[in-house]
Amino acid sequence: MSRFWSAVVHGLTPYVPGEQPKLDQLVKLNTNEHPYGPSPRALEAIHAATNDTLRLYPDPNADALKAALARRHGLQPAQIFVGNGSDEVLAHAFMALLKHGQPLWFPDITYSFYPVYCGLYGVPHQTIPLADDYTLRTEDYLPRDGQQAGAIIFPNPNAPTGRLLPLAEVERIVAGNPDAVVLVDEAYVDFGGDSAIPLVDKYPNLLVVHTFSKSRSLAGLRVGFAAGHLALIEGLERVKNSFNSYPLGKLALAGAVASVEDEAYFQDSCRKVIATRETLVGQLSALGFQVLPSAANFIFARHPERDAAQLAAALRERAIIVRHFKQARIDQFLRITVGTDAQCSTLVQALQEILAT
Ligand SMILES: *Cc1c(COP(=O)(O)O)cnc(C)c1O
Repeated sequence: MSRFWSAVVHGLTPYVPGEQPKLDQLVKLNTNEHPYGPSPRALEAIHAATNDTLRLYPDPNADALKAALARRHGLQPAQIFVGNGSDEVLAHAFMALLKHGQPLWFPDITYSFYPVYCGLYGVPHQTIPLADDYTLRTEDYLPRDGQQAGAIIFPNPNAPTGRLLPLAEVERIVAGNPDAVVLVDEAYVDFGGDSAIPLVDKYPNLLVVHTFSKSRSLAGLRVGFAAGHLALIEGLERVKNSFNSYPLGKLALAGAVASVEDEAYFQDSCRKVIATRETLVGQLSALGFQVLPSAANFIFARHPERDAAQLAAALRERAIIVRHFKQARIDQFLRITVGTDAQCSTLVQALQEILAT
């Protein structure tokens, strides 16, 4: 607290990211990073861009990256917005597109940055409870009893549950709310879902946000993007150009373009994570865990006889870090990132030992 703080700062409740411990030798399964590194071509491109031209500002419009993403997704470059991580893209969307007189709707259990941005930008909001099986009920997101959302946001697959809403249901929500922006945060879609990006030409109210942090294994580079109608993108550009002209540096731009252009590596590394996930789900189920169906690079699991916080603490004593949320309805779950096969074996063995005590 300080008397020098503005009134806004006094009222903020900042997001708390999963810890990034400085210790080596940890099995780090707490922040959904990809276990295999980025495309070697992305690393080469970053090395090649590390030269004297760093004295110059980067391209403020990120034209090369927008062109590469547009090619990959069959869109025009003007339908793409890029930012310093998808968190920044989301932040701009909250200000540019999600703040209206009527409340923004999002699930009660979801990415915990959403309420933080509501606090920062003064966005009125209303949470909609997930069903008992932690699925999102389409009907709850359609206008009802004369009530309409000012806008809607949800991740698909949802975080931290990993549950996927089928694309046809996403489309029902978008089509059923023609007067509200529907933002689908597809941070994890490459691990098992169908993206809504092909729908952006059909629906002027749909914005789809992706990140390079998870499926492209570039969390350290900070790159995310949105795809949507020209008018939505223009709104985002207006906010971005009122905030920071150069959110992506030259190294980030070079690495991101090369990553997008290496489709084979991308597909292959996602496939490996999916295969490991399925093995892990089988092994944890055999240990008595209830595991929610996951379409992401993490699983959400609880053990009917063991307290989740105690399990997380016992794993930590064995240098394995997973995420536990002290939040109503999910405080008996652990969110476990899918690591390498070796990391997952270490985890399963540790849980076996812990459960035997
Ligand atoms: C990880 C994550 C993000 C943020 O990703 P960055 O691009 O690293 O900022 C956004 N939304 C969800 C649901 C996430 O899990």
